[in-house]
Amino acid sequence: VKIALHGATGRMGGAVLSAARAQGHEIVGAIAEPGCVDVGRDVGEVQHVAPCGVAVQEDIASALLGAEVVIDFSQARAVTAVARAAARAGIALVSGTTGLDPGAERALDQAAAVVPVVWAPNFSIGIQVLTEVLRHAMRRLGQGFAVEVVEVHHGGKADAPSGTARRLAQEAASARDRAQIVFGREGLIGARPAHEIGVLSVRGGDVVGDHTVYLLGQGERLELTHRATNREVFAQGALFAAQAVLTRTKGRYTLADLLP
Ligand code: NAD
Repeated sequence: VKIALHGATGRMGGAVLSAARAQGHEIVGAIAEPGCVDVGRDVGEVQHVAPCGVAVQEDIASALLGAEVVIDFSQARAVTAVARAAARAGIALVSGTTGLDPGAERALDQAAAVVPVVWAPNFSIGIQVLTEVLRHAMRRLGQGFAVEVVEVHHGGKADAPSGTARRLAQEAASARDRAQIVFGREGLIGARPAHEIGVLSVRGGDVVGDHTVYLLGQGERLELTHRATNREVFAQGALFAAQAVLTRTKGRYTLADLLP
């Protein structure tokens, strides 16, 4: 697959670059933030792997020339631009960027009216399965169990809570007659209302991404935990999505839509 990388100089950009080359895909474009010090340098060198003959650029349109798909792991404020550029170029977009505001969400929907768009807050297969397990647990446990989500990430993460934690909380909320998701707690909060679903974020060190859903009952509890131990799992998932989506027409897809 001919791939352009948006957010090419970042942590995930590096993971996708390495995994893509190992799988024999071709990197044809690499885009970084305007003003980035790495503009003009070979993206392989920037990521401390072998040079690949593709210079980091600021201009999205020219970086997408010749690409079949653009893979985006950047920043929320950059997503609208890449979605518009993918639509204009008529190529598929695979985005894993989190913390999106309603404007960026709208831009993904607008692009999906023209090209295939995959967005997932977590490209690991383990999180997909955890989400399915949670759906099942919510059905079996009924309304009486309290649900809380705790996520842990490295100190460099830009957004909180993680997109995955939001997604897990929304999944739990959808199984409830009444639910209110709350992000963190402080002060004299009083007794926990039964309809609350708390989401808490821990930051520090080099943690790639841990998520635990607590299902707290009287006399027993379940703790459903997923731990990502390297970024390669997300890169592999994004590459799987990039290949799978090429067989699809315009529209918005999740990772679950593409899994066999
Ligand atoms: P990072 O800070 O290491 O990298 C972000 C990159 O985006 C930087 O290289 C930066 O130069 C680039 N960027 C910023 N603004 C840009 C712009 N306007 N145009 C082009 N590039 C721009 O962050 P990271 O750890 O690689 O994570 C990136 C995103 O991916 C975050 O939103 C993170 O939450 C998300 N993420 C998603 C998954 C998943 O599976 N969906 C997994 C890990 C991380």
